Amino acid sequence: DPFVKIATTGAGGVGKSTFTIQFCYSKFIEEYDPTIEDSYRKQVEIDNEIIDIEIFDNYYFDWGNYFKYEFYKRIHGFIVVYSITDEYSFDKLENFLNEIYKYREVEEFPIIIIGNKNDLEDRRVIKKEEGEEFAIKHGCPFYETSAKTRYNIEETIFTLLREIRKY
Ligand code: GDP
Ligand code: MG
Repeated sequence: DPFVKIATTGAGGVGKSTFTIQFCYSKFIEEYDPTIEDSYRKQVEIDNEIIDIEIFDNYYFDWGNYFKYEFYKRIHGFIVVYSITDEYSFDKLENFLNEIYKYREVEEFPIIIIGNKNDLEDRRVIKKEEGEEFAIKHGCPFYETSAKTRYNIEETIFTLLREIRKY
């Protein structure tokens, strides 16, 4: 299986599916059925190397522990998402990180944290510095992104791929 496997995680409504579809198909969707569990494949060129990646969106949501464990074991890197317009999603970040650590059993593991919906400046409730501070505390790279304008979408994936290559 040649695919580099990436999974998204984070609270509902923060833009995980929108991010995934924007990255893979370069389009913004207003409505996406939140129950769809799917994986998306895309080939990228990074540092003169062709990499096939597979992004798992909304997987493992209602799964029991055994299946979660089996799933997490196969993932190479995680994108943990909050929305800069949603305080709850920021407060929940720690829980999502802890779940990754719990199922992965090792702490040295590529995770990138993103504060999405950065185009919605007038609805911002989480400062960029708060996201940066949280990410530094957990030793993860960080970007603010917009799945609408495509701001930092490729940077996120490329930074994560570079982290994955280190392990
Ligand atoms: P998920 O539950 O995390 O998968 O969230 P979705 O991808 O379904 O997105 C929830 C809603 O937020 C949808 O209406 C999206 O169109 C919208 N959305 C997602 N990302 C962005 C973004 O970066 N900017 C704006 N303005 N809306 C976004
Ligand atoms: Mg979704």
